Amino acid sequence: MTTTYELRAEHRPAEVGRRVRRWHIAHTHRLKGWCGRLLDPVSDVRPITHAPVVEQALRCPDCWRLFAAGRAFPPWSAGNRAS
Ligand SMILES: [Zn+2]
Repeated sequence: MTTTYELRAEHRPAEVGRRVRRWHIAHTHRLKGWCGRLLDPVSDVRPITHAPVVEQALRCPDCWRLFAAGRAFPPWSAGNRAS
């Protein structure tokens, strides 16, 4: 199985550079998180395998709820299977 998801950062300006406000889960090469938020094309990216070790405070609650539920697709995806 190929990894088709990744973690994408939502940034906020900082004194120097930028800081991560929150991590979202998104499909690779898509700029929309599972929660539906549009993400910056130049945001930081981490592999989806890092999802369990992301600091609790920096997790997008909606994205992680779907991740924990083992959903293969976010609710807004056309490929979503209802059940
Ligand atoms: Zn999110």
